Amino acid sequence: MMPIIQGQCSCGTVGFQFSAEALRAYQCHCSICRKATGSAYSTTLMASECDYVWIRGEEKVSSYSKENGYTVNFCSCCGSPVPNKFRGFPLFSIPVGSLEGVPDIEVVVQIYLGSRAKWDKDYFEGQKFEEMPAVNKMLEFLHARVQP
Ligand SMILES: [Zn+2]
Ligand SMILES: [Zn+2]
Repeated sequence: MMPIIQGQCSCGTVGFQFSAEALRAYQCHCSICRKATGSAYSTTLMASECDYVWIRGEEKVSSYSKENGYTVNFCSCCGSPVPNKFRGFPLFSIPVGSLEGVPDIEVVVQIYLGSRAKWDKDYFEGQKFEEMPAVNKMLEFLHARVQP
């Protein structure tokens, strides 16, 4: 039996579930994904339309498309990306960060590496923490000035 995976947006208004044999994902480093995620790249997997259902909040899903076919769906309440139909295919593109629990995801493809952000490096040599450090420490690392 295929495992059932659930996901939701940050505020929980929009929820969905799907099943898939293998959770294989791709990362896109294009400039549009950088803007859409506010980060270095998007991480996405595909699920068959027939194995996919919205659990709640489908009426709160907003959509934005570009002329080149790029489409992103997002929660109208919190702005988190949520799944969208993949172009003309019977598939849903699913943003991997929206999944609940610790599904066994394998990233198998990276695309648009030619557009990769210069600050997105393979090797990280900065400060590392398991959780959020003290705010004043963070501000110190970031050289963020709080005085007017
Ligand atoms: Zn939301
Ligand atoms: Zn992209």
